[in-house]
Amino acid sequence: MNLLSPFTSTSSIAYLSMEIALEDAIPTYAGGLGILAGDTLRAAADLELPLVGVTLISRAGYFKQLIDEEGNQQEVPEYWQPEKYATRLPARVAVTIGTRDVWLQAWLYVLQGGTSFAVPVILLDTELEDNHPDDRTITHHLYGGDAAYRLKQEIVLGIGGVRMLRALGFRPYTYHMNEGHSALLALELLKQSEREPGANHIGEPRFDISAVRRQCLFTTHTPVEAGHDQFPYPLVSELMDDFIDNSTLRAYAGNERMNLTCLALNLSGYVNGVAKRHAEISTHMFPGYSVHAITNGVHPTTWTSEPIAAVFDAHIPNWRHEPELLVRADQIPDDTLWQAHLQAKTALIQTVKDVSGVTFDPQLPIIGFARRMTAYKRPDLLFVDMERLARIAAAHPFQLVIAGKAHPRDETGKQLIHALHKDIEALRGKLNIVFLPDYRMALGLKMVAGSDLWLNTPLRPLEASGTSGMKAALNAVPNLSVLDGWWIEGHIEGVTGWAIGDSEASANGNDAYALYEKLEKTILPLFNGPRDKWIYVMKNAVAKNAYYFNSLRMMRRYATEAYIR
Ligand SMILES: *Cc1c(COP(=O)(O)O)cnc(C)c1O
Repeated sequence: MNLLSPFTSTSSIAYLSMEIALEDAIPTYAGGLGILAGDTLRAAADLELPLVGVTLISRAGYFKQLIDEEGNQQEVPEYWQPEKYATRLPARVAVTIGTRDVWLQAWLYVLQGGTSFAVPVILLDTELEDNHPDDRTITHHLYGGDAAYRLKQEIVLGIGGVRMLRALGFRPYTYHMNEGHSALLALELLKQSEREPGANHIGEPRFDISAVRRQCLFTTHTPVEAGHDQFPYPLVSELMDDFIDNSTLRAYAGNERMNLTCLALNLSGYVNGVAKRHAEISTHMFPGYSVHAITNGVHPTTWTSEPIAAVFDAHIPNWRHEPELLVRADQIPDDTLWQAHLQAKTALIQTVKDVSGVTFDPQLPIIGFARRMTAYKRPDLLFVDMERLARIAAAHPFQLVIAGKAHPRDETGKQLIHALHKDIEALRGKLNIVFLPDYRMALGLKMVAGSDLWLNTPLRPLEASGTSGMKAALNAVPNLSVLDGWWIEGHIEGVTGWAIGDSEASANGNDAYALYEKLEKTILPLFNGPRDKWIYVMKNAVAKNAYYFNSLRMMRRYATEAYIR
């Protein structure tokens, strides 16, 4: 236990998440939720906040994305070697799943902050000889398998997570549920709070619900219905029979199905959404609960390219620990910032060349677009009117780089990837477009830093926050986005970037028209005009967006408003 003793004495806030993006080589994340979890823990490490992260080891990762000749996504498991990055800990705990006890072991990943402080991350693993072969793979595939597989993973994460922390010597006073996937932890705490029947407790409720609520807080991440896990009660009885009596479970998790969001809402003393608009939407979705807003942020050191970071180091010392200082970005000489951006752009152009064989012109603007390929993100919006798009590109040439994975069971998302490849083909010779496969941390940084403009086209109001645009802003790259999520708070027209349409209407046709108009009449002419006018927007992206939308500010707020209550 020596390995852990520096942590167990101090780590008093447990942060449980189905996915955590620790580093590019560790595929324990699928997308925005995992990136946010990683940025949360990285900020905690920088700020010396006593967190301990808990997630699944996801030995087979999410998946590696390949694109075949026809433009179809192929998914390949991405097995990684935990022993290269983490240390196996001796503790074992068991959870009951169905008719068997399933043993868990834990691995320690040490997330080093900017000072000597580090945050421990516990990776839960069922790959043990003692387990039935079917149970060894429970922690293999992130978001893989069917509902039963998912529920097994959530039992391991929530119930196993709490037990493992105790077994390792942690005594958290707060449990932070990052999304509903880990909500069974609250049920485990509820069960532990059960009062022994006896004379002392006559008239008192069976469970100490207020103690559980004092310990739990919940961050909800999406207004999309499918993003909220629900399990039919017959499946719940099959896998976690006897865990807690039916009437108690239904009272907190819902009558129809076991709803993890419902469970988390009922058992948490503090609930928040991830942007102001998202908190409002969530309040309407969950009447009777008060949903606070703590707008997301991204981790400055992780998401700033080397050339731009070098400029910040020289002109805004201490920005890594105090990103609020980026508010002084107008102190940076125009040419210094522009040259640093060109270096990041050159690196992206090289990657495009290496991966696709396509040569981008460094003189022409690059528009970047990378996100999960799913219907509400509308990666096809730019391609609604191909002729108009081609006309704009003829008048004001630009180039486009795209990336993103579709969930293996999201047929619409896969269809969108296929359609994108057809559109790219159809525009060949008129507009240079490249789809880079296997969107992940390192590619993400390359893209947000090397593009000249970052595009986002979600269907309002379904983008809870969005974070890639914040990464762009850190790299002095302005956003062009639908007014949804964080951009409602970050957008100042023509100063920090540009809006597509207004904050109300959202019909595809209208938004596509607004997008074309903005590109053709405002943004591309500005890029091609006097450089200082463009650099003005770049600097304001840093000074008015990045100074605020970073995870250090976010964690200072969690610390003062959510963790200390
Ligand atoms: C930042 C990031 C995301 C999330 O970006 P959104 O703008 O929220 O869609 C997803 N995947 C990767 C690899 C990222 O770096």
